[in-house]
Amino acid sequence: MTKKILVVEDEKGLLLTLADRLETEGYTVITAEDGNSGLNKVLHTEYDLVLLDVMLPGKDGFEIASKLRASGSTKPVIFITAKNQIDDKIQGFRTGADDYLCKPFEMKELLARIEALLRRAGTQNKKNDDIKIDLEHGLIFIKGKKENLLSQEIKLLQYFYEHEGEVVLRSTLLASVWGYDSNMSTRTIDVHIARLRQKLGDVNDVPKYIQTVRGKGYKFTAP
Ligand code: CA
Repeated sequence: MTKKILVVEDEKGLLLTLADRLETEGYTVITAEDGNSGLNKVLHTEYDLVLLDVMLPGKDGFEIASKLRASGSTKPVIFITAKNQIDDKIQGFRTGADDYLCKPFEMKELLARIEALLRRAGTQNKKNDDIKIDLEHGLIFIKGKKENLLSQEIKLLQYFYEHEGEVVLRSTLLASVWGYDSNMSTRTIDVHIARLRQKLGDVNDVPKYIQTVRGKGYKFTAP
């Protein structure tokens, strides 16, 4: 089936170039040229992936992406932007970007990233209709059932998302989530993790999302 790509970009020239090339590659393309219509289409049209410019008139790409995630959608988002500072990248990922490309970029690279994300989304969707995590509002939905997250649990999950697949030491978690001057013991982390696992529906014996790495800490695999 033809994959549909939504392109939100206010530079007309770039928008046309992107639409042209994507159509040549066999994608169906929907476009929006400002933040408000971008948000509207991101939330209310059918598509498989969105290319999202950051600097847009009306609403910026970060706001659009975070509203999309807040709606519970896991649709792949690639930010395309001229901003290339590391802080922007981090903000981009926090608001729910799957990938990030700085202008000017090679069309070939963009196409490769689109393909990779669509492939990943295809397998993820099958696997993971049961759980949705909405960090912005501190909620987890498991098979439609709502769980509220405490602020430390949100911070823990944010940290895990930023370091997905890495072994994270307990001491690092303590410093990053509770702060260096905290008097808490690493044991406290285990208690928080146990509760977080429970909310994620992760069984302590064989956790899928937050794995214990013996003698070190934890490794997170996003649902
Ligand atoms: Ca722009």
